[in-house]
Amino acid sequence: MTMPVLILNANFEPIHVCDTRRAIGLILSEKASLVLNGRGEIKTVSRSYPLPSVIRLEKMVSRPRVRIKLTRREVFRRDNFTCQYCGRHSTDLTIDHIVPRHLGGQHEWTNVVAACSHCNHRKGGRTLEEANMHFLRHPKEPPASAAYVFGRHLDECSEWEPFITGW
Ligand SMILES: [Zn+2]
Repeated sequence: MTMPVLILNANFEPIHVCDTRRAIGLILSEKASLVLNGRGEIKTVSRSYPLPSVIRLEKMVSRPRVRIKLTRREVFRRDNFTCQYCGRHSTDLTIDHIVPRHLGGQHEWTNVVAACSHCNHRKGGRTLEEANMHFLRHPKEPPASAAYVFGRHLDECSEWEPFITGW
């Protein structure tokens, strides 16, 4: 009952992941319908229910645009685990604030990059101009595509792939 279930909006856009218990609740209350079973059935005394893998909401829900949380791991992932100053692949990455925080730099996607400890040390608490350094790519907020958001479930739930692709 703890297997993840993918919830599609009425227009088939993947929007959320819940557990089996909640998914069956949504189906029984006719708020959602079964799209993909593939996991057999669950039997109660009186009847059996298909175990859902993908369900779809009957009514379209609007939701705010999903944003990727700004964490060290997500910054490294966005920057392909590569130092954005020297281009080196590194397991020894740090987060560099392009405009240093003590100079008013914000902790936001456009002001953080992955940097190897060597480059981070070289730059120190200075601006790029002061340190005479350049970054490889202009840092941006990563797109919150369904593949980016739900992709981590695909090892366990490979049958979701066609429902995620393209959103
Ligand atoms: Zn570097």
